[in-house]
Amino acid sequence: MMGRELTVHVGFDDTDSARGGCTTYLASLAAERLVELGARFLDYPNLVRLNPNVPWKTRGNGALCLRFKLEDDRLGEAVEVLVKLLEKEAVLEDPYTNPALAVLVGWPSVELRRLAMKAVTGIVKVEEALKVAEEEGVELHCLKEARGVVGALAALGETLEGDHTYELIAYRAPQSLGSPRKVDASSVVEMDRLTRPLTFNNLDFEAFRVLITPHGPDPVLYGVRGETAEAVRHASTLIKVEEPVERWTIFRTNQGTDAHLKPATVADAHEHLPVAIKGTVASKPRTIPGGHVVFTLSDGTGNIDCAAYEPTGSFRKIVLALQPGDEVVVYGGVRPPGPSNPKTINLEKLLIVKLTSLRIAINPTCKRCGAKLESMGKGKGYRCRKCGEQYPHAKKTWITKPRKLVETLYIPPPRAHRHLTKPYSRYGREKTGGPLPLAPLSPSQFLWVNPSFKKAP
Ligand SMILES: [Zn+2]
Repeated sequence: MMGRELTVHVGFDDTDSARGGCTTYLASLAAERLVELGARFLDYPNLVRLNPNVPWKTRGNGALCLRFKLEDDRLGEAVEVLVKLLEKEAVLEDPYTNPALAVLVGWPSVELRRLAMKAVTGIVKVEEALKVAEEEGVELHCLKEARGVVGALAALGETLEGDHTYELIAYRAPQSLGSPRKVDASSVVEMDRLTRPLTFNNLDFEAFRVLITPHGPDPVLYGVRGETAEAVRHASTLIKVEEPVERWTIFRTNQGTDAHLKPATVADAHEHLPVAIKGTVASKPRTIPGGHVVFTLSDGTGNIDCAAYEPTGSFRKIVLALQPGDEVVVYGGVRPPGPSNPKTINLEKLLIVKLTSLRIAINPTCKRCGAKLESMGKGKGYRCRKCGEQYPHAKKTWITKPRKLVETLYIPPPRAHRHLTKPYSRYGREKTGGPLPLAPLSPSQFLWVNPSFKKAP
């Protein structure tokens, strides 16, 4: 007899570690198992990037959610399979890895959505997440401490009904892990040429660097980001790899949407928050040891330092060319004060709203010989240094110095972007996800597993 079909959401977070592992890989394995159990997916697996400035995260701060329909008599088995998977795949020996799995039947409530927004734009305490989980009837499985609950719940609640993008992530076969990735760079250049602007951040042209491949011990071979599932799928067919691909999965995500940046004032730019603050440049930018460029921003509620760090490359030259009086909007994360620096906004973007006109006074020139005049003292006029001609009534000349900047948005090169940073190419391409569920998906739309690497169920 057929059971009743349930709408189920499974969120998980914090399974990876700086030393390997990858929560997206776990999501791919989980999706495969769920399909085997008869789950019908209502959305692509969701990859939800949370506030990148939270201090206890060393990696991308990504949480995952799978949304699907399942016969109610199979739910218990499905959760058991997923918990086992989490136990097997999570890097439990890492003291900073605290995996959690959250199961919700039905649709995420307003409270869960609010919590998700807070986890993307701010800080959510573990106790707060546990309270919401209890109130909303979310079933939790924590393998160690409850830290991962925040991400797992946020993933449930972030249904990506606003702007969103896609990422196809291809994974390496187990025997390749730890060795250099064999992805043909020229095929990436060609893929980029053929698919831009429907894909983005494939390459960094300033540093001649391929960005789709990571460098760590994790199982990701490459990830292609784009506007649609079709675009990233097409792009992946253009990438030449010389090692086996174990599987790929297409995720729907808030990457590249600026979802984390919230309008704020200097007064409420608290530590670890991502902010967008409109203000006036209050000090001449200066380069500090390490090659970072720093200036002070003022907005009437206070002053705060803003820094373009060394990895932002040519972006630092833009920041260095600012002048006191320029009206700007700064975007970035608030870094807590250190032993040698005050609280500082780590700049992710800079919008120049209005450039101040840079007027400087210069001494007039001699009408006889063309040389620069020198002052004979306050109110006493000028004298030519070269021919001695005197000009008792001459005055200083004011000139407007041309600015090297224009009133526009400046973004650092892609290699310095956060996962959430919206690149230039996405401006004007923002889209709404619309209400869920999406049209029913067939597994082949988001998941491919190399038959030679099929894991025994
Ligand atoms: Zn002269």
